[in-house]
This record gives sequence, C-alpha cells and structure tokens, in this order.
Amino acid sequence: MFNIAYWPLMWLCLALSTPPSYYAVDDYASVKKADVHVHIRTQRPAFVHQAQKDNFQLVNIVVDGAGTWRGVRDQWKYVKFQEENFPKEYAPVTAFSVEDFHEPDWTEKTIAWLDSCFAQGALGIKVWKNIGMVLKDKDGSNVMLDDDRFDPIFEHLIEQNKLVVGHLGEPLNCWLPLEEMSTNNDRNYFSRNPQYHMYKHPDLPSYQDQMDARNRRLDKHPELKFMGAHMASIEWNVDTLAAWLDKYPDATIDLAARMGQVFHQTISNREGVRDFFMKYSHRIMYATDAGDALTNTPEELGEDLHDTWMRDWTYFVSDQEMSSDLVNESFMGIHLPREAVDNIFYNTSRDFFGFE
Ligand SMILES: [Zn+2]
Repeated sequence: MFNIAYWPLMWLCLALSTPPSYYAVDDYASVKKADVHVHIRTQRPAFVHQAQKDNFQLVNIVVDGAGTWRGVRDQWKYVKFQEENFPKEYAPVTAFSVEDFHEPDWTEKTIAWLDSCFAQGALGIKVWKNIGMVLKDKDGSNVMLDDDRFDPIFEHLIEQNKLVVGHLGEPLNCWLPLEEMSTNNDRNYFSRNPQYHMYKHPDLPSYQDQMDARNRRLDKHPELKFMGAHMASIEWNVDTLAAWLDKYPDATIDLAARMGQVFHQTISNREGVRDFFMKYSHRIMYATDAGDALTNTPEELGEDLHDTWMRDWTYFVSDQEMSSDLVNESFMGIHLPREAVDNIFYNTSRDFFGFE
C-alpha cells in the first residue's frame, strides 16, 4: 500500500513523465521523412515522383564508383539537373575522383573541382571505399583514408564548413566465408563478385585496417562533420557501433543498404537493437542507397521504392511479425516511440544536412 505522504511525489512524477506516444503504420504518408542516401543517374523524374507521394526528402549523392573524373562529372550533372528541377526534394552531395591521385596537381585540381560544386550548392562530399580497398600506392600497397596526401582536402572541407559522407570499408560479411554471412544480399553480391570478397584476398587490408584508417582520419580532424554511411561499416553489432558513436560524439550514421543486418540482429537481440535505436536516434538517419540508373520502368521503380520504405517504416513503428528476403528468419518490428521515429526518419538529417 502506498503511504499517503508519497502521493504528492507520485503526482509530480506522473505530470513530468508524459507517456510516450506511437505512430500507427497508417501514419506513413502523413509523416515527413528523409532518405539521405540515394543515387540518381538519369534525368527522368520517376524517383522524385514516388518520394513526393511517400513524403520523402532526398539527399542525392555522387560517388567515385567508376574511379574516373568522367564518372564523377557525369553524375554531378544528373545530381544538379534533378536538384534544379526539384529543389525542395533534393539536396546535392558531390565527390572527387582518385583517378590521377599520383599526378603532382591532383590536390589543386580536386580542390578546384570541389569548390565549383560548392558554388553550385553541394552540401558536402562522399568519400568511397575505393580509398582503402582499390587505390594503390606506387609501391603496390593500398592508399588508406588517413594518408597525409588527403590532409589538404579534409582541411579545405572543414574551412568551407562542408559535410563528409564516408563509406569506408565494407560490411564485415565481406571478410567472412559465404556460409557465415549474416544476410542474403551480401551472400549474393559476394558470390557474384569474388574480386571484392575480401575473405578470398587475405593479402589486402583487413576489416580492422579499414576501420582504423577511418578512425585515424577522424582523430586528426575532430571538427569534421562526418556521417558514417552504411552504419559506419559497423553494421554487424549494435554494441560495437554504440561504442564508436560514443568515441566520436559529433559523428552520425545512416542505415543505407544495411537494414538486413538490423533485421538479422533483431532476430536474436530485439531488445538490444531497440535500446540502441532509442538511445542514438538523434545520431541516426534513415537511408536506402536506392537509385535510378534506368534499369526498370518508372512504375517498377516506384513500386520497389514504396515497398522498401514501407517495410522499414513498419519495422520501426510497429511490433508486427515481419519477414524479409534479406534474412532467413522472421523478426518483430521494434515499435519505437514517436520521438525516436521522428529523429531517425527526419530530425537528425534535417539538422545534419540543414534542410529547411
Ligand atoms: Zn551509396
């Protein structure tokens, strides 16, 4: 029985702790959301039309995927075209190429290119896994992200107050045999692309080498505005990722193309995953890595996007039992309170990218 003397205290506690409120799955279309990691390599508006229907703001990102300046410049043209036509929906992020990294004028040329993109509205740049995994030094070793030759670029980004989206390394699965991988999408990708399956290339830098080089770059520039794309490549364990977020208190992450790993951990550790998203929701941005490179019809593209966005929304807001072709067992949604959902789907990215 409660002693009457405690009643005022109980009332005070009740008044201070308003119960958390939750979204319903059906609130999807009415809630403003952002997908901060997309790649649109065409002028057609199919992607943005679906985003308008589903109430998504987008960050459209250039990547040095082909390893050429031409590839970077071509993508930037598309990114600019889309942004000019849909300035409210698209925020642009550019990239540089390391194609001619060993030429003496590479630094100057790169800074000039980045400045021209910033003058056209780029919010920042993406650095890609080719630094660390592909780019070779003259002695045949891999050039890593903390290499001194990148210092002037990062110093310039800080001076210009620009953001860095960093995709460094790969999911840990890349260093595991196919049968030990946690998601079906990684298993499919690395069985089709053995040249990128690092388990088969033990002579190349390890997973930890990639993470250490990225971290040393952040240690060198604590003021850098950094977003670790793909859960900062620490997608395999929420506790390890939490420790990284604690170590770099200004860094943020996106979830692009790693919901499979989130689902995988949810199968065995739903409470741990839920606690992680509750505690760090103000550091986490929803993203898919979806794109448009004209490989399907506008209708198919729209349907795929809607299905992916809706799947992930359902996972975060509900406690429904779910299944996904990314993993082999079913799992339950984590039913986050409204505040955490708002952070993950919009507020963190609004603050990081400075959306209106
Ligand atoms: Zn990407």
